Amino acid sequence: KYNGPSLEELKIIRKKNLNPGLTTYYSEPIAFHQGYKQWLFDLNGKRYLDMFGGICTVSVGHSHPRITEALTEQVQTLGHVSNIYFNPKIHEYAERLADKLPGKLKVIYFVNSGSEANDLAILMARAYTNNFDIVSLRNGYHGMSYQTMGINSNGHYKYPVPHVPGFYKTMNPDVFRGIWGGNKCRDSPVQPDRNCQCKDEICRANEKYVDQFKDLFLYDIPKKKLAAFFAESIQGVGGTVQYPKDFIKKAYEVVKEHGGLFVSDEVQTGFGRTGDHFWGFEGHCIQPDIVTMAKGIGNGFPLGAVATTPEIAQSLTKASHFNTFGGNPLACTVGITVLDIIEDENLQQNSKTVGTHLLLELEKLKTEFPVIGDVRGKGLMIGVELVSKESTTEPLDLSKIMKIWEYCRDNGVILGKGGIYGNVFRIKPPMCISREDADFTVSILKDALTKFK
Ligand code: PMP
Repeated sequence: KYNGPSLEELKIIRKKNLNPGLTTYYSEPIAFHQGYKQWLFDLNGKRYLDMFGGICTVSVGHSHPRITEALTEQVQTLGHVSNIYFNPKIHEYAERLADKLPGKLKVIYFVNSGSEANDLAILMARAYTNNFDIVSLRNGYHGMSYQTMGINSNGHYKYPVPHVPGFYKTMNPDVFRGIWGGNKCRDSPVQPDRNCQCKDEICRANEKYVDQFKDLFLYDIPKKKLAAFFAESIQGVGGTVQYPKDFIKKAYEVVKEHGGLFVSDEVQTGFGRTGDHFWGFEGHCIQPDIVTMAKGIGNGFPLGAVATTPEIAQSLTKASHFNTFGGNPLACTVGITVLDIIEDENLQQNSKTVGTHLLLELEKLKTEFPVIGDVRGKGLMIGVELVSKESTTEPLDLSKIMKIWEYCRDNGVILGKGGIYGNVFRIKPPMCISREDADFTVSILKDALTKFK
């Protein structure tokens, strides 16, 4: 039972004492007081199915009893010691995480967020290559620190201040919205010919996107002077955007040709969410030089990490790299427990089976409702893009989107909303959701679309 300040009182405090730039997300804000597994409870005790997972963060479920237990035991033993000392947890966790990573990605740096992880990756790439220029994809999101704001390419997250030099953007190979399309060839259960090797116009879209990526080295960046290329395996904040099959693989080759490192931002796509693989980059068949992670790694605990090779890590010994909380025993305890739970509860497999079922059901809904322009994603990383009418990419009117979205909330389903036009429902729930939860989500969304399409 909740006995704290009312929603009205919270609104006053928020207005007076919190960052005025914070969104209230819904037109009428909602306050959550409690969570358990895939559910959230508001101040009145009403239950919601959390299909957004705290923005793709709650990986194994809210208030998981095993995490509570492990954390309680650790805080009673040793709450904090900085990583200048040895403590068993940071060592145990580094080893466990390294075991999850392929190839030479065996050196781990612990930080506290995705922004910090990407910030460190920028530094690492520049220190190792002695190059300065960094390339990322339009519509990408990598954090809100001053530097990561530079690799973001999303106007909603750009302050009108001078930006750090050396950051370049390349056209987003968005198979739905991109100028060359390519939507027959992405890696998703709702794209039946995802393995096609044909050379028709749509498949050739990929070559065109890759060509314009190469153009960067004709026009903007001196040849072989690239420090790094950053990409999410599937764009998260940008609206669950997938690239044509093989784009990342080809981009990787271009990056190597120009002396750069490939940084895979796995902040949303890591830890089994995409179902087929533990890491999203594995779906692109590449071996990154640096992997950044956060969100799902700690199931809501502030934890982030950067993994790289021993050679690249060596470049950061040119000065002392230190982070007070990075690798704190509490954070590492949570990290270890999250890995255990993913394994013991078979959550990667659940992401795949429930995610694929949900994708296919949403695809059926698409045939009934022309306002659904696109259903995409992999595992439990799903996007539903709403458009004004069939076969266009013009976003559905925002007031309609709000009505559909808020109807879902009022009827117990929390969906994310994003994409550059705010017209994509983002579905990234805790990976423990069931088939029934997926069906419930589809039925509520169907009711909402029937009412407000
Ligand atoms: N990378 C990606 C792909 C993200 O989605 C986010 C957060 N939305 C970040 C980095 C930044 O993480 P944080 O908010 O923990 O700094």
